[in-house]
Amino acid sequence: MAFKVLFSLLAVLLCANAVFGVKVISKAQWGGRTAKSRSNLASGLSYAVIHHTAGAYCSTQAACSQQMRNMQSYHMDSLGWSDIGYNFLIGGDGQVYEGRGWSTMGAHATNWNSKSIGISFMGNYNNDKSTAAQIAAAKALLADAVSRGQIKSNYILYGHRQVGSTECPGNNLYAEIKKWSNYRA
Ligand SMILES: [Zn+2]
Repeated sequence: MAFKVLFSLLAVLLCANAVFGVKVISKAQWGGRTAKSRSNLASGLSYAVIHHTAGAYCSTQAACSQQMRNMQSYHMDSLGWSDIGYNFLIGGDGQVYEGRGWSTMGAHATNWNSKSIGISFMGNYNNDKSTAAQIAAAKALLADAVSRGQIKSNYILYGHRQVGSTECPGNNLYAEIKKWSNYRA
């Protein structure tokens, strides 16, 4: 009986999650700056591109928020971009961090920015290994993108190395995303 009640409660929580989407640490929450400008990103896209930042790994919200601020400053001040390059990022703490968000075109993969959403794992996945929590967060984000109509349900998932000359998203993370259902060789 207790199990039955617990199961019902779990079902309700899962439904609630499906309705409200994945929890995202907003730019305001991580202390980000306002973008200098923005270009609209179309919806109904056919692609999602997975990256790694090739920078430091972080495993707490405080450390990942610091990483986000450092990266945004690098992208805006040193590279001269309008904002942090990615649409969303996945921290080593297993949380999703808002980059440019759903409807703003990213600067993450040359020639692919207008056709895809760019999701980047914080860390260098030639050495770091993605955790179960990170993988679950990324998959939930992609499911959310489908439910919002931002990407098509039959979207194609690529690692950055498939669309550009780069080792991104690192060998370990690339081996992981090869197992995801929308990945295409
Ligand atoms: Zn990349």
